Amino acid sequence: MMNRRTFVATSLGALTPRIWPELLDTGQENRTRLILLGTGGGPRPRRNVAASSQVIIANGAAYVVDCGDGVARQMAAAGVSLTTLRHIFITHHHSDHNADYGNLILLAWAVGLNSRLDTWGPPPLDRITKLFLEMSATDIKTRMSDEGHPPLAPLVRTHEITASGAVMQDGKVKVTTALVPHPLMKRALAYRFDCSDRSIVISGDTAPSQNLIRLSQGADVLVHEAMYLPAIDRLAARTPSATRLKQHLVASHTSAEDAGRVAQAAGVKLLVLSHLVPADDPTITDQMWTDAARVHFRGPVIVGKDLMEI
Ligand SMILES: [Zn+2]
Repeated sequence: MMNRRTFVATSLGALTPRIWPELLDTGQENRTRLILLGTGGGPRPRRNVAASSQVIIANGAAYVVDCGDGVARQMAAAGVSLTTLRHIFITHHHSDHNADYGNLILLAWAVGLNSRLDTWGPPPLDRITKLFLEMSATDIKTRMSDEGHPPLAPLVRTHEITASGAVMQDGKVKVTTALVPHPLMKRALAYRFDCSDRSIVISGDTAPSQNLIRLSQGADVLVHEAMYLPAIDRLAARTPSATRLKQHLVASHTSAEDAGRVAQAAGVKLLVLSHLVPADDPTITDQMWTDAARVHFRGPVIVGKDLMEI
């Protein structure tokens, strides 16, 4: 058990956002920001590494991609107000990507979000949203009377995506998606955000994918999931169904080396490794991740950390 002092000290340490200074153009006030909120792969809650989520902030509006466990708290830790939330994009419906989808909506509303919120993702996003709102009806009703919030359901517009192509465009951002292979998920999506000053692609979970290479052509930043293959055997050995787990990981995900191959084929300017598997193995150093990705990719590689801004 941690005492309170230890907890506070640990939290403060973890709350300091890291910035990649060489890539920041500090003279540009309206620069599109990308913050990695959670960089660990898999649903197991970990002490120091949150589950998948990232936020892009363009002209003051927050576009969240994936909602792993703790996403609202990670937004707070990153200093991004929940009331700036404008869009949520879900890559696929594994719990390390969507466990806090409903909670993010509910908590943003509870702290004052009172404008339209669009959510995007594969089916059954409509049903997930509807059931979540139904499940939270007691809280929503009470806060409406107690605190004067508007009804939540009319603010939320869900959009189910079943094919590659254009998703949405507003004055700030154009979003495009591609279906990517992530068995046994029927549908998994990668998203590309073309902003006024830079383009950012989030791979979601995927095996090495030609669709993703096409979607990422020439992008400024590719955030790609990554496995460190030599450690997968050790990881598998710690679980009761080791062989099956390893088969699933190799068939559904991408090694750091192959993430580099994808980045090179797409001609992206920067590769960010995230959704790291294993997420918290201290024997795998950043250098080891980077070396694996750089077998094929000749550009810069960043090993993603929670709250890192890129
Ligand atoms: Zn997945």
